[in-house]
Amino acid sequence: MTTSINLINVKIPHREELLEGGIHVEEGRIIKIGKEANLPRADRTIDAKGLIALPGLIDAHAHLRDLQLSYKEDFYTGTCAAAAGGFTTVLDMPNTVPATDSSIRLKEKYERAENEIVVNVGFHAGLTDRLEEISKLGGLGAFSFKLNLYKPTPEIAVEDDGLMTQLLLKCKDVRRPVTVHAEDRGLIERKRSQLNTGKKPTVEGFLRAHSKEAELLAVNRMIDLARTTRAHLHICHLSVIKSLNSIEEARRKGLRVTCETSPHYMFLNENYLRRLKGIALTVPPVRDSTNSRKLWNAFIDSRIDLIATDHAPHAEEEKTSDDIWEVSPGIPGVETALPLLLTQVNRGQLHLSRLVKAMSEEPASIFGLRGKGRMKQGGDADLTLIDLKAKFKIDSTKFHSKAKLSPFDGFKCQGKPVKTFVAGKLVMDNGEIVAEKGTGSALKAAGR
Ligand SMILES: [Zn+2]
Repeated sequence: MTTSINLINVKIPHREELLEGGIHVEEGRIIKIGKEANLPRADRTIDAKGLIALPGLIDAHAHLRDLQLSYKEDFYTGTCAAAAGGFTTVLDMPNTVPATDSSIRLKEKYERAENEIVVNVGFHAGLTDRLEEISKLGGLGAFSFKLNLYKPTPEIAVEDDGLMTQLLLKCKDVRRPVTVHAEDRGLIERKRSQLNTGKKPTVEGFLRAHSKEAELLAVNRMIDLARTTRAHLHICHLSVIKSLNSIEEARRKGLRVTCETSPHYMFLNENYLRRLKGIALTVPPVRDSTNSRKLWNAFIDSRIDLIATDHAPHAEEEKTSDDIWEVSPGIPGVETALPLLLTQVNRGQLHLSRLVKAMSEEPASIFGLRGKGRMKQGGDADLTLIDLKAKFKIDSTKFHSKAKLSPFDGFKCQGKPVKTFVAGKLVMDNGEIVAEKGTGSALKAAGR
């Protein structure tokens, strides 16, 4: 059995430069990074000529589904898709059936995932109003508590400020962030009820209901609650540039508010939604092109902490209803995120070091993934090898995900992941999954 590997002729980012060298990996850890001549002997040598090694990418927001939603995605297909997209760790969301809102449910997920996953997987828990379960879920290793203000899972009284204050204090107590889907349900429902009833539902109506104001209102309300509780808030899939202004103001006042955005908010806009309808439908929805450009600029200026994919696979029939309100929101994202961003690196619009920070370092640091997020001696040998020259067109029919519809179909990309290593094991090689089920580890958040 191969226990040690030398990766040779590989380019390694060092500060702002790329240095050619080698990486020696043993028993799942990086033992040495340096000149090839200085590497210890290894059982296996892999020539990575022309490739760049990055610390394994971490997707802090993905829906791997499984359990009763396995028809959409399961732990095996979801982690194969992640490996194909260059991700070595994925944090899975709790809105499954059944939902991950108790220690029993979380234990079931750990048991089910362990033998299926090919990359590392950690779990977010659903924010429950049963305080004793928050303690238990924290103790079991949940990475955060997800609060979906638009569609709470489990159903809790999200409009009740008193309850929210109590729950935020509890999450602070167990030292976990509250990850927030920030859209005000009341405002969305009021706007929706004002749409011309009797007429065919339209994308315009959907956008009017899921307005920018609905996000901003929710973000501001959560920041108010953070002011009194001092809880760590992580705002998910930021879609509105004005929300970021509120977040930055809160940070200036000393609050711990972090945030992510997803590639579709930067690379797509409402015109894609008008044209592709359900296939481009997410919540929050994609916005106007001025907003998406501003989000992009905020990302490259390091004002947005991290990029998460919000990989949200659905069956084809769930994405193609004529009634936009009947369409399941969400798109597959783990197989397109890295190529879309590497294309911008090739265009000179993004520095590779910024990409690594937003897709590896920051997710590891914000969610407390020890040994991950940086390529260093002694760290976990989770590595993503990319080919910056490879040109291809996105084709969702080739996805490893069960979800085979993407608004990015036909996008021309330059740059893609070609080898993914998890704990020193080669999991993906040139688009093929070459590892056994169970190669990944089910991760537990360490007590902080
Ligand atoms: Zn999501």
